Amino acid sequence: MQNTVLVVGGGPAGLSACAGVIGAGRNVVLVEKEDRLGGAPILSGYAKLVPSGEWAKDAIGRMVKHVEDSPAAKVYKSTRVVSLDGGPGNFTATLSNGEKVSAGSVVLTTGFTHFDSINKPEWGFGTFEDVMTTTQMEQMVASGKIACPSDGRVPERVCILLCVGSRDRQIGREWCSKICCTVSTNLAMEIKEISPQTDVFIYYMDIRTFGLYEDKFYWKSQEEFKTKFVKARIAEVTRAPDGKRLLVKGEDTLVKRPIVIPFDIVVHAIGMDPNLENTEIARVFGIGLEKHGFIDRAEHYTNTCGTTRRGIYVAGAALGPETIDDSISQGQAAASRAVADLYALVQKTA
Ligand SMILES: Cc1cc2nc3c(=O)[nH]c(=O)nc-3n(C[C@H](O)[C@H](O)[C@H](O)COP(=O)(O)OP(=O)(O)OC[C@H]3O[C@@H](n4cnc5c(N)ncnc54)[C@H](O)[C@@H]3O)c2cc1C
Ligand code: SF4
Repeated sequence: MQNTVLVVGGGPAGLSACAGVIGAGRNVVLVEKEDRLGGAPILSGYAKLVPSGEWAKDAIGRMVKHVEDSPAAKVYKSTRVVSLDGGPGNFTATLSNGEKVSAGSVVLTTGFTHFDSINKPEWGFGTFEDVMTTTQMEQMVASGKIACPSDGRVPERVCILLCVGSRDRQIGREWCSKICCTVSTNLAMEIKEISPQTDVFIYYMDIRTFGLYEDKFYWKSQEEFKTKFVKARIAEVTRAPDGKRLLVKGEDTLVKRPIVIPFDIVVHAIGMDPNLENTEIARVFGIGLEKHGFIDRAEHYTNTCGTTRRGIYVAGAALGPETIDDSISQGQAAASRAVADLYALVQKTA
């Protein structure tokens, strides 16, 4: 028990936390609710990741293999934690299969839920077949063929709408999802690579391809791949008079004029919502949530990975919108805190 850390959620943050515990010579038990490890990049079929350009199945697949191959890791899939008793150094988790797991400390890496575009009905998702999300377009890119779902034609024009389900107070999403600008500028290049005759437009409020992403994605997408950036406020997506294409209506906020442009495919750059199960996760683990519904931190600077309950740590998109790279770093950090607790306990009981 004093030798074991329990990790809940097998996405990039959880896999990294597991690797951290294994690297420190301790045992880890990983509990994942789905039947596959890998988290959102695997479960939602992401194509090439930013910023590495590596296929998600290869990059995250390596992380999965490292954990699954380790004799120090016990992995439960299609399983949840239904209750947690005890305290730091001496937790007992009851799993949905009835088994009990003893652990000295716990790391929560239960991630996020993709924004459901149905909550933005005026932008056509669920009404028109040729309106899709970035995850669906990533799956199309992975298949190697760009085509309109409605009739299979190659699109002349694709439009990506940024900030769908982010930075939108009307629907209670005040946060920036951090990665979707970069993912979208990359997606525009991937579409053009597969389908050179397709023109890609990105409709934006602001472009947040921060740090080194600015050069590698934003400028490259514009200059080498001729992606057209339009600063606009979108009003609605409707059917064009030809009965085939879609009209994106809004205001060009640079020239302050209405714009109506026909597109063959409209892509929603969906944001990152709190995990839909967070209320239940908070109840089971006895932890607090912040005001938007993500998991709350104990203290911002001195206990970054701590939750509001001692002995339980948190990492990755469970804390708020996060990139894979940062989720991995946080997973490592949470693992070192969780392992340090095990050492502290051994010293106390020696
Ligand atoms: C469209 C889109 C594209 C993106 N592309 C990129 C990219 O190219 N590069 C990049 O850096 N970032 C990208 N991101 C962000 C990336 O998805 C996140 O950074 C990453 O998935 C966070 O990892 P995580 O492990 O914290 O969470 P997740 O990936 O959400 O993993 C959480 C895991 O926990 C499991 N889980 C949840 N609840 C429970 C529970 N109660 N019990 C047990 N298990 C549970 C889930 O099933 C899942 O396996 C993208 C995001 C979006 C929306
Ligand atoms: S990263 Fe870009 S698209 Fe995503 S919410 Fe922030 S500004 Fe909007």
